[in-house]
Order: sequence, then C-alpha cells, then structure tokens
Amino acid sequence: MQKESNIYLDLKYENRNRVFNKIREAGSISSSALSYELQLSRPTIKQNVDELLGMGLIYESGTFGHTGGRRAKAFSILKKNRVAVGIDLTKNHITVIVIDLNGDLIYEKRVRLAFSQEDSYKRELGRLVEEAVKASDIENDAVMGVGIAVPGLITEDQKKVFYGEILKFTGMTAEELGKYIPYSCRLYNDADAGGYAEISQSEELTDAFYISLSNNIGGSILIDHKVYKGESPRSGEIGHMTVLPGGGECYCGQQGCFEVYCNATLLSGQYEGDLAMFFQQLDEGDEKCREIWKEYLHYLSIAVNNIRMLFDCKVILGGYVGAHLEKYMDELKRLAAERNTFEDNADYLRVCKVKKDALALGSALPFVHEFWKTL
Ligand SMILES: [Zn+2]
Repeated sequence: MQKESNIYLDLKYENRNRVFNKIREAGSISSSALSYELQLSRPTIKQNVDELLGMGLIYESGTFGHTGGRRAKAFSILKKNRVAVGIDLTKNHITVIVIDLNGDLIYEKRVRLAFSQEDSYKRELGRLVEEAVKASDIENDAVMGVGIAVPGLITEDQKKVFYGEILKFTGMTAEELGKYIPYSCRLYNDADAGGYAEISQSEELTDAFYISLSNNIGGSILIDHKVYKGESPRSGEIGHMTVLPGGGECYCGQQGCFEVYCNATLLSGQYEGDLAMFFQQLDEGDEKCREIWKEYLHYLSIAVNNIRMLFDCKVILGGYVGAHLEKYMDELKRLAAERNTFEDNADYLRVCKVKKDALALGSALPFVHEFWKTL
C-alpha cells in the first residue's frame, strides 16, 4: 500500500511540476492550452493550477479570447516568489546579483573591494547581500540560497576551498565566508560557474568546453548541460596546462603554464587595469599592443587546439577577454586551424553569449534549476 501511495504522489508532483514549467516557458497561458499542450485532462489541470495559485507560484495575469464570448483566464508565474543570489568574488571586486524564478536578472551591483580574510570583509559581503535582497523588493524567505563563485577549487559538497592559491584562502569554508549572510551559501569554482551560465543559455548545445579568460584562467567541461567535475575534483584546469616547457613562472609553482601567457592582466596591465583601453589602442593600431596581442593569440590558439583534439566539442571563450574577442575570431580561428590535424577550419570556436556577470549568474542559476525540477 505504501508503495502505491508513493507512486500516486510522484505522479501528482510530476504533473504539478509540468504545469508550472509549461506556464513558465509560455510566459502566459490558459487552462485549455495547458490541457492541450500537456495532454492532461481539464480537471487535472484545474487541480494543479489551483494548487500553484495557493502556493503563490502563479497568478492570473489576464484573459484570452474575443469580446462577447467567455474569456479564458491567463496564468503566469509569480517570478519573485523565489529568488537566488549569485556572488562573484575576485581579488579586487565583489559582484552581487539576484535572479528571479525565471532565471532573469533583477539586481546587479559590482563594488571594488580587495579580498581579505578579515571579519570586516565578511561583514561587508553580508551587507551587500542584504542590500541586494532589499533592493529587489522581495521577502526574506523567498531567497532559496546564495552561490559564491571564487577563484579556487571546491570540495564536492561545495562547502570548502581545497586549493585557493590566487586569494591565498585554501581551507576557507562557505560557512565562514557567509558568516554574515543570513541564507544558506554554496561555493562554486569560478570557471565552472561561468561554464554553467553559458551552457544554460545555449539550448543548441549539450556539451562544450568553456574557457574563462580573465585575470586568471579557468576551464569547465560541460557534458549534457552539467559540469563534469572529475574525481579529485579538479577537472578542466587548463590554466595549468603547459604551453611552453621551461617557460615563465606560474603562481602555481610550475613553469610555462597557459595561465602565464593568456591571463587578462597581460593586456589590461598596459593601461592600469583598463582592458577596454587595451582593445581600443589595439584597434587604433598601437604597435606595442599588436605585439602583445599577437603573442596572446598564439598561445590561445595552442590551448584551444589542444582542447579540440581532446574533447572534439565546441570551445567557448569567455571571461574578461572573451567579451572582447568577437572582432578577432577570424584571426584566432585561422591560427587554431593551422594546428589542427583533422580540420581545415576552427568553426568549433565561439565567443561567450553571457558577456556580463557570467560567474555570479552561474552560481545563482543552479538554485533556480533545482527548483524547476523538484517543485
Ligand atoms: Zn600553473
């Protein structure tokens, strides 16, 4: 008997879940359209719609139909019923975003603040989150959780940094970092968060390799819309792939890492951290910028070709540099194709779609996606 009732409950929740997600995807939809699209009876639709109305997850957003006849009610999801907070934490900046139940951005703020393990830093982090929730005009209990993207490697339970050389914060826990954040916090590796945001916005792709070309380099292997973490879990750490044996010293202690030749500070460092200025000067034909850029593309082409050889999938270029790459893709593709054993083009290369806040977005989105699945 117990088993039967579980099957019944599973089906009941599955139907509710399908009804909710169909309303979400449609934006606005009537009961009869729901019944038709989901192939569920009208009474079943009514029961689930009533339940979702009772839970405050949907609302009557208008009517469909012609004047004269009886108008059909239109339903939409109440996007602010639940939200998720995403944080991108780097050496010098904190970005905080809030996304709604549809995954849409409703708040964004970036502040310049040098990372520190001091209590004052954690306090400020907590204040920024509370400010974000307040400004988003939502109830406290609507916050499903806070995802924090950091430049470090994260344990499988997402609670601890087990390698954090960049910020010198190995051993930092989600609990400690979120000491003043009144919601449950999870840690994410920054490149994995960026990759997840990107693949979530790419319906045409199921698998890809994402490269985050920011002040540090990260990579993320995406298989079937999920991040493949590896057994350690240290997958996709292409920043420490050797591109020049015996080359320049990397912060990791090795020599000739990809990180050494393609981190964004090599470019932005020419203009006191202003990456846009570098690209502007490059476009204006500055000789020194041309030289630096030529070398940058050379090493980038080595890395992307290696990835293509290894995974035979699309390679997406993101991060600070990725956001500026569109114009130079022909040049990069030509260089990468020259190295390729099997193909005479590098059309597998693509720039990121998510140009802004990708890391914060990728650490907030999992909360929303889990909600869609488990509602
Ligand atoms: Zn290294």
